[in-house]
Amino acid sequence: MKRIGVIGTGYVGLVTGTCLSDFGLNVICVDNDSKKIKAINEGIIPIHEPGLEPIVERNVYYKRLHFTTDMKDTVETSEVLFIAVGTPPADDGSADLQYIEAVARDIGRHMNGYKVIVDKSTVPIGTGQRVKGWVQEELEKRKAVYDFDVVSNPEFLREGSAVYDFTHPDRIVIGAETDKAIEMMKRVYNVLYLNETPFLETNIETAEMIKYSSNAFLAMKITYINEIANLCEKVGANVQDVAKAMGRDGRISPKFLHPGPGYGGSCFPKDTLALAETGKKYGAPITLIEQTVKANEYQKKLMVDKIEREMKGLEGKQLAILGLSFKPNTNDMREAPSITILNELAQGGAKFRVYDPIAYDEAKWRLKSIEDKITYCENEYETMKDSDAIVIITEWNQFRNLDMERVKSLLKHPYFFDLRNIYRRDSMEKQGFQYFGVGQGSRKGN
Ligand code: NAD
Repeated sequence: MKRIGVIGTGYVGLVTGTCLSDFGLNVICVDNDSKKIKAINEGIIPIHEPGLEPIVERNVYYKRLHFTTDMKDTVETSEVLFIAVGTPPADDGSADLQYIEAVARDIGRHMNGYKVIVDKSTVPIGTGQRVKGWVQEELEKRKAVYDFDVVSNPEFLREGSAVYDFTHPDRIVIGAETDKAIEMMKRVYNVLYLNETPFLETNIETAEMIKYSSNAFLAMKITYINEIANLCEKVGANVQDVAKAMGRDGRISPKFLHPGPGYGGSCFPKDTLALAETGKKYGAPITLIEQTVKANEYQKKLMVDKIEREMKGLEGKQLAILGLSFKPNTNDMREAPSITILNELAQGGAKFRVYDPIAYDEAKWRLKSIEDKITYCENEYETMKDSDAIVIITEWNQFRNLDMERVKSLLKHPYFFDLRNIYRRDSMEKQGFQYFGVGQGSRKGN
């Protein structure tokens, strides 16, 4: 097989290109962000993703992995082209396809022979056909005739474990219209195919639908347990026990049953919005997902209300904030609950001493509007000095074993808001904290 081109060198593109090169394929990753490509070529990996750096290094060393800004060369020298650019929400919630269109047109402009064009970005149902149209239009402008296939091959990796997920997927979904394209995709994923990863072959529209339905379902599952948690608080039940017992039911599974401050990140918020918009557009509303979007916004607000209520106001209060990234093991803060929560707490008059192990570069621009209220600290204990309360927003492992005597000696008041339920209420209360988890309503039997 000739080269694989990966267009867009972000979380998905960089991991895809790197892991494919580690499968022994010759890969070129292209991005129009020249600073990013320069940095990678100097050995600086722009994202924090466990295990990624040595694999990049190794494959660059063996000359199987290349990084460039040269789209023309990438298209001309590659047989399979993965599109892995962003698909952020437009103002109405639908996916903004401007980056996908730009790439599709670029491919059409530079195409010099048969290509398989693979949508790896999460794109609304029908985008594969539009990509085909954009490429064809550019070919016609050039009066060029080349055969090509468009494939939908959605990505299911999770940030924080992206390398593992890419190399150990639950399934590979291939939506295609020709046997030739399916065969090419099997060659790309040969290593996984030989390892008996389930391959699901279907049409393009179904593959696109699989990605949205999966993500929206997971977002809905989180939202469901969040709402159950809120009810638990009112009726004196403990959601941790509820979730544990529910999860034992094989039909339910224990995953994504952890209540918290609402889901965030670069995928669930935009994919739920986009699916809801697609449903409305086609007159087949997905009302559960429309409600999920609203309930998730409300969940973040509930966290702020709880802190304000229990502390009897926020004016002049200093909060020790642990964790800013949208989840542990990533520096990604796109749609992180911390952004909404800190902004709203700041509006109420609070100021913050914060700590996150790796998200400061992101945090400093995403929280710029309230920067005068934030002190960035070097470790978790520094945040607590003279603070009125501690608020755990992201469950980094290192926050799971805090020295509680030290915490108490540093805090001005023993308010402990654990928005990820990494501690148990009864044990924290015994240690003298005024502890508030999410859905830990019961004082007994924990
Ligand atoms: P990202 O923002 O990290 O990366 C996108 C990259 O594309 C950027 O580096 C950008 O500079 C580049 N780009 C934009 N336009 C370009 C162009 N015309 N030519 C070349 N490069 C261009 O985004 P991401 O998180 O990697 O997400 C990419 C897609 O994958 C999205 O559709 C997303 O929904 C989907 N996805 C993301 C994840 C995730 O965990 N991040 C998981 C599964 C699927």
